[in-house]
Amino acid sequence: MATFKAIVIEKAESGTKAALADFDETNLMEGDVTVRVDYSTLNYKDGLAVTGKAPVVRRFPMIAGIDFAGTVEASSHPAWKPGDKVILNGWGCGETHLGAYAEKARVKGDWLVPLPQTMSAHDAMAIGTAGYTAMLALMALERHGLTPAQGPVTVTGAAGGVGSVAIAILAQLGFTVHAVTGRPQEADYLKGLGAAEIVERKELSGPVKALAKERWAGGIDAVGSTMLANLLSMTRYGGAVAACGLAGGMDLPGSVAPFILRGVCLYGIDSVMCPIERRREAWIRLEKDLDRRKLAAMTREIGLGEVAEAAAAILKGEVRGRIVVKIG
Ligand code: NDP
Repeated sequence: MATFKAIVIEKAESGTKAALADFDETNLMEGDVTVRVDYSTLNYKDGLAVTGKAPVVRRFPMIAGIDFAGTVEASSHPAWKPGDKVILNGWGCGETHLGAYAEKARVKGDWLVPLPQTMSAHDAMAIGTAGYTAMLALMALERHGLTPAQGPVTVTGAAGGVGSVAIAILAQLGFTVHAVTGRPQEADYLKGLGAAEIVERKELSGPVKALAKERWAGGIDAVGSTMLANLLSMTRYGGAVAACGLAGGMDLPGSVAPFILRGVCLYGIDSVMCPIERRREAWIRLEKDLDRRKLAAMTREIGLGEVAEAAAAILKGEVRGRIVVKIG
């Protein structure tokens, strides 16, 4: 029997239980491409799945992990052959399809994007779903027509994974970035990524006004709830906010005033089912527009055995930047 190491989530008496285990290869799910996983990452959703804090996992047993970079071992898909370097983000991996915290994954070839030529598998997962989502958010703001000349932009959840990558990309493209954080002690880190100003989380945590003083031409929000509602009320006339996260909550306790009186636009960002063409574009842009030295400065590496501890930490907002999980 061929087995490989994986973080397997099983149903427990109350809730779920995740453990590093040997997984029988014959139990991999259907797919036309088998991949040797080189690296995965820790995203907020992985934290929810591994700790069982939210019902992310819809099938048991499940291999956790929503994204990977790896090497094709076998393929009956016309686009992929053994040896190809590939990236996968989302598509239900780690939720409904066996996921990435494993030495092997079997997936649909239609889900994969090629690893950009100048990018290592490690760097691709330093970016991970968090960074790819930051790029999708930026692309939405660009489609809106946002340019650096229109004024400063803001990033919430700044010291987290999405936030850190968003700051680095926006700064690289010439935007003046204001970083909203509950960790002002990370000011040097955030400025190192390119933030021009640090805004304390409490400035966007108070009661939401229908319209507040106009501060930013646009924003990328990883927090949701009161933070997003305040951000919308502070967005300048004609500006736009790309919302991708719920680290502060799922609700949106605001008013329609920013939309109907200032023409502000709110763009929703989904990385999981995002069409393949847009994914390819996002990864090409990440290859070009993200300074790898900044990526290295925001990343640390762990092994599969350390995932459980890191999963608990990310839900407490204690993880800075990005965590790569070495698999092979
Ligand atoms: P991280 O935990 O790395 O970052 C989240 C950050 O949000 C924290 O570092 C913290 O930043 C801030 N934060 C945490 N809790 C609170 C709170 N209660 N109130 C205000 N701010 C808070 O997670 P990721 O960056 O990986 O993910 C961020 C969000 O984006 C998550 O909700 C995740 O599910 C979502 N996401 C969505 C995707 C999509 O497809 N839409 C894809 C990827 C992620 P600081 O300390 O600087 O204040």
